[in-house]
This record gives sequence, C-alpha cells and structure tokens, in this order.
Amino acid sequence: MILKNNIWKIFYLLSIVATLFLVTLLYFNYKGIKERYTTQVEYYTQIVAQSIEADFMQKDMLLSVVGESIFKECKSSSKAKTEELFSLILKHNPSLVTLGLADKNGQVLVSSSNVEKKDINLMTNDKTSYDFKRSLSSDHMVVSRTYYFDAINEWIIPLRKAIRDDDGNILGVVIAGIKNSKNSNYLDAFELSKNKIVVILKDLDDKGNLYKLYYSQQNSSQIDLYEKPIKKELLSHVKEIFYSKYKYSIKELRKRPKTISLFINSDQIGDNIVGLNYVKKYKLWISVGGSVQEIKEEFSREVILYITMFILTFIIFFILFKSVAVSEKRKDLELIRQVQHDTLTNLPNRIYMYENIQNYRKLYNNKYFVLYLDLDNFKNINDKFGHIAGDDILIEVANRLNMFFTKDEMIIRQGGDEFIVFANNINRKEIELKIQDLINYISKVYHIGKRDFRIGVSIGIAECPKDAKNIEELLSLADTAMYQAKKIKNSYSFFSEEMRSLNAFRTEVEHELRGAIEARELWMAYQPQINSDETLYGVEALVRWQNKKLGFVAPDKFIYVAEESGLMKELGEFIIQTSLREIKMVQEELSLTFNLSINISVVQLMEADFLPNLLKAIALENFNRSSLTLEITESLSIESLDDVLPILYDIQEHDIKISLDDFGTGYSSLSILRELPIDELKIDKSFIDKILYDESEKNLVDSIINIGKNFHMKTLAEGVESIEQIDELKRSNCDIFQGYYYSKPLSREDLIKFLRKG
Ligand code: C2E
Ligand code: MG
Ligand code: MG
Repeated sequence: MILKNNIWKIFYLLSIVATLFLVTLLYFNYKGIKERYTTQVEYYTQIVAQSIEADFMQKDMLLSVVGESIFKECKSSSKAKTEELFSLILKHNPSLVTLGLADKNGQVLVSSSNVEKKDINLMTNDKTSYDFKRSLSSDHMVVSRTYYFDAINEWIIPLRKAIRDDDGNILGVVIAGIKNSKNSNYLDAFELSKNKIVVILKDLDDKGNLYKLYYSQQNSSQIDLYEKPIKKELLSHVKEIFYSKYKYSIKELRKRPKTISLFINSDQIGDNIVGLNYVKKYKLWISVGGSVQEIKEEFSREVILYITMFILTFIIFFILFKSVAVSEKRKDLELIRQVQHDTLTNLPNRIYMYENIQNYRKLYNNKYFVLYLDLDNFKNINDKFGHIAGDDILIEVANRLNMFFTKDEMIIRQGGDEFIVFANNINRKEIELKIQDLINYISKVYHIGKRDFRIGVSIGIAECPKDAKNIEELLSLADTAMYQAKKIKNSYSFFSEEMRSLNAFRTEVEHELRGAIEARELWMAYQPQINSDETLYGVEALVRWQNKKLGFVAPDKFIYVAEESGLMKELGEFIIQTSLREIKMVQEELSLTFNLSINISVVQLMEADFLPNLLKAIALENFNRSSLTLEITESLSIESLDDVLPILYDIQEHDIKISLDDFGTGYSSLSILRELPIDELKIDKSFIDKILYDESEKNLVDSIINIGKNFHMKTLAEGVESIEQIDELKRSNCDIFQGYYYSKPLSREDLIKFLRKG
C-alpha cells in the first residue's frame, strides 16, 4: 500500500519535472530559432549591401569614364556620335536603360536614342533638383529617387555623376537610369531567398523624407511604393527599438555603419525581422527582412514534435508505473490473503472471520447458525501415524467442508482439529438433517497413503439471534455445546439454556478458584479404608472447598474446571503437599503407619516435572514411599494411554502404588489392565450400590475381583454403606472397603479421634 502510494507520488513528481524540462527545452529552442533567423537575416543584409555597393561603385566608374571621354577628350564630337556611344554602352550594360548629359545648370544636352527628345531641366524639376544639386557637390555618383520616366515609359533609379576638370570646375553631369520595373533582372538578382524581402532606401532628403528606391516584392502599385515616403511613425518606431536594443542612435550608425537586425512589428509592415545596413558612399539603406511568422511556423513544428515525443514517453511511463502499481496491489492482496488464510488447509482463519463477519451477517439477514466442529480422537492419529498423516486428514476434512457447504457459508479453521462454520439460516429441522449429513460425510473413510482412516466429528451449534447476537458469545456457546457432543462423540448438540447456567457456573467457579488457595478456602478430608479383617488399611485424601460466594463446592464441580483452566498444577501440588504433611503428622502422633491414597488428575500426571516434584514433597515430609498410592481415574487414562504409560512405570519403579479409580465406568476396562502397571482396582460405587438386589451386577463385581486377583492386584470396594454389602463383598474375596458404613471423609482432627477409638 505504502509503495503503491509512493509510486504514484514519484510518477506525479516525474511528470512535473518532465513538464518543466519540456517548457525549458521549448523556451531555449525558440530562442535558438530566433537567433538563427537573426544571424541569417544579418548575413543576407551584409551580402546584399556589399554587392550593391560594389555594383554601384562600378557604375560610378563607368559614368566617370563616359563623362571624361566625352567632356575631356572628344570636346568637338557631335551629338550623333555621342548618341552612338550611348547606345553601345547601354548594349553592354543591360542594367542601365538611359544615358545622358546635362550641363551644370541641369539642362539635358544629349540623351540616349531611346529617350523621347524634349526639353528637360533637372535643376528646375521638383523631383530631381535636390539630388542634382547634391551631385554637383559630391565626388561620388549620386543615387536619386526612383521615379517614372515618361520619356521612356519606365520606372528608373536615376544616377548622377558630375565631371570636373583638373581644377575642379564642373564640366557637366552624366546621367543614367537603372531599370526598376517589375521583374528587373538586374535588381532581382539581389534577392537571395524567395521569402526574404530586399529593400533599398534612399537616406533622408532635405524634407526629412525617406523613400524606397527598390522593393523586391512589388505587389502593390509602384506609385504607392516609390512616390510615398516611409511613414514618420514607422521611422520613429524603428529608432526607438534600435535604441533600446543597441543603446545608441541611428545617427551614430550612419557614421560607423555595421549590419544590425531588429524585430519590427507595425501596422505598415507587419511582424518582421529586419536586417539593416547603411552604404555610406551612396547614402543608401539596405534592408533584408523576413516574416516572424516563419519563425513561429518552424517553432510550432518543433513544438508539435517535442510534445508528441513527450506524450509518447509520458504514456510509456504511465503504463510502466501502472503495471508496477498493479503488481504491487496484487502482492498486497496476496499478502492479505495469506494473513487471512490457514497455510495448511487454505481455509480462511479467524483473522478473516473478524474482517468479514459483518458482510456475512448482512447476507444472512442476521439469522444464522454457528457450528463448532472438533474432530474426535484426532490426537491419537497424530501420535500414532505422525503429523504428515494428520495434516493430510485435516486437508481432506477441509476439502469435504468446502464441498459440503455453499459459497455463502463461511468456513473457518479455528486451529488444530477445530473448525467453525457460519451456516445459512434455515429452520431447525433442516439444519439438524444437514448436520447429520455432515457428520456422515466427515466420518466416511479417509484414504491417506496406503492406510485407511476413520475419524468422527463432534459439533456444537449456537443460533443467532436466539442464543446470542454477539459473535464472541455465539462462538463460546457453540463451543460449550460441542463439549456436550464430545461426551457422546461423532454427534451434535444444540446449545441450551441449561448449558448457559452451567456455563455461567463454570465461569464463576473458575473465577473464584483462582484465589482459593491463597484465601485458605481449601482443605483436605480423609476417608478411612478398612481391610477385610477390620483393621485399618489407610485413608483416601479428598479435597474440600468452602467459598464465600458459592458456598461448599463439591470436587466433581471444580476439579474439571481446574483441569481446563490451567489451575490443576497449583491445586495438585497443594493437595499432595497438604496430604503428605497432615498424614505424616497423624502417623507420628499415633505412632501408626497406614496407607495414603491421593487422587491424581491426568492433567497433573502429564506435567513434565510431576514425578520430580512428588519425590521432592515425599522427601521433605520424610514420608514412606511404599505407603503411598496414586489414584488415577480410568476413563481419563485411556485417551492418553500412550503418554501416561511411561510415567506410570516410572512411578511404580519408585515404589509408589497405582490405583485405578472408578473402575468399571470406562469403556475398554479389561483390555488395558494387561498394559497398565496397576496395584489396586477401585470398584465404583455405582456397582456396589446394586450388588444386594441385582444378580448380574453382583456377578460383574465378582468377575472384577477375580480379574484383580489374576493380575495380582488388590481390590477395593468404594461407597460401602451397609454391613450386608460388606459381608457379600467379603464372601467374594474383596480386600479393602471404603464408605459411609465405616466413616465419612474426616478432617485431620476427626481422623485422629476416629483412629484413637480403634
Ligand atoms: P473418588 O476418588 O471416587 O472419591 C470417592 C468419592 O466417593 C468421594 O466423593 C467420597 O466422599 C465419596 N464416598 C465415599 N464413600 C461413600 C459412601 O458410602 N456413600 C456416598 N454417597 N459417597 C461416598 P468426593 O469427595 O465428593 O469426591 C468426588 C470425586 O472428586 C472423587 O472421586 C475424585 O475423583 C475427585 N476428587 C476428590 N478429591 C480429589 C483430589 O484431591 N484430587 C483429585 N484429582 N480429585 C479429587
Ligand atoms: Mg478416588
Ligand atoms: Mg472413585
């Protein structure tokens, strides 16, 4: 989960960084394109300016040569000859369309033959006088304003060159015209690129006007192009942006010409990048310009390319991150699944149960049965055939449960051989039938490896909402009911109100028992055991509990609680130590040795340090080991026979006797007698009760006594209440008698009195 969130955080961060990077990249890209265009335009301007200057210088020279040859060398030559010379020169210089001579007063004297003969004076004409005058004072050729020369029906750029004698006196002026019509091959040659506009401007005249001499894209009328000066606003606008870029004035530039470039955006010329160069000698501005639109177009192409690449990369990264996130999520889900499931059976576990119970409750409309299943004698299989066989059976049981219940019924492995099922609410009759089917199904034979196993199941059932609503309570009630079913085995039991009060009592007993030893509520009573010759054999120690809240509680009612709640070890040690100490004291007081029988719970017996602790207690009291018997209840000892057997042998080896208590009430009584190291059989009171009037019970007791004799065991009749019973039992050769006939269990003081009486 954490990683998943982080992955998207990294992704967002990466996206922001990439976007910033893209914007920066585009910014520098735009700057680069702009710089490239600027350099290009400056370069073009430089080249155009240089070539125009070179060409004009050539023309300057030509006019000088022509003028000098006419005025100086051939003073006497005729008009006709001059015209002939002009024709020849024009033929060889196709860029020139007219040639002529004027005197210093501006009167045209001769002109090339293509010019219509009429009286022309350049000094008196408004359009020509300013430049004509300029030519008289200039050493160089003077380039004049483009105008329509009607004598030849052409737009021309006029050239004037004054010719001087050696003293510097003006002899005359050579005049010429460069053809400036649309598609003039000569001028168009300056146009280096189709999308660059070349403009030649004549520097400011006496009226402060700036006129175009040439405009490479002559789309509009030539009158508009050449007759109207450049607008003043445009001029001041250019001045401003020039200054703000170069930090000096145009005037300075005129003095020290160099190629510059400006971005000019105005209504007159649109949005352009313009290169500018001043040709000082001929007072001309050369400008090469390109539209900013071009820069924008190139930039947009780059933008599209970059953004496409960016989006593609973004998509690839997104897919990558998405797949990582998805796989992380899958891992998370798998982890959750693992935590919520049992590894052996793959069934959901308690964690799953608590996480999902609300969903199931909704599904069941809060009406359902909780089944608590516990396999019968599963421990035996584990012990006898190993854990692998046990595991295989558990897996098979889980499979059967999955097959048996629907998807809507939650099956939980509670742990060990216990399972919980939340079953759909059907009526009581149907669930009983269903559970009976389930028991049959679970107890069908299991083929594991080469062996066949049979296993039973005990099921306790609690119903929601009838028995309880709270989940914990329902589980506990079903568990209680399961214990009831366990008494019969391979059966089921519904929770009942009776069990509830029993349960409540049990809970209270457990609670009160915890403090009982410290509160000195427990003590020992001793019941005498008498030999058939009426002498004392010994006593049985019986624990007693008087509680403030519960009153007198019989051992039947609390020993099993102590066993189930882990209190038996402490209680058992109290019983052993107290009995040994008290009986030793009685024996010493009366100088009498007799036997002591102590009841031992199997739970006690299974404690690892049981025997060492017992021996320690015996040594502490200096008790005679051969006068000690441990009573073990038969029904309990069978289930865990394999575990108990070695301990029993160990005990016997230490010279301590073992008695099988309540003999005859268990199941496989006779068969285990051979295996167990037993010194004494205690015939249960339920048999003794009936011997006087029930022949078959009498026979049963007789055969128990005989069996005992055969195995060299002593037999003890428990709960003898009349002399008739004793006489009958004596006739059957019973060895020892214990019961109310002789005495009820007695306190230590009462026991002393009893023994003193003899
Ligand atoms: P148990 O070992 O079979 O003990 C004999 C029970 O029969 C005792 O009941 C005793 O008081 C009773 N009894 C003896 N003679 C007669 C008689 O003539 N008539 C009648 N009606 N009853 C007679 P108690 O003391 O209530 O003990 C019940 C069971 O509790 C015992 O059965 C024993 O299994 C267990 N128990 C008692 N004390 C201890 C103990 O210290 N440790 C352990 N582990 N279990 C004990
Ligand atoms: Mg007993
Ligand atoms: Mg008994």
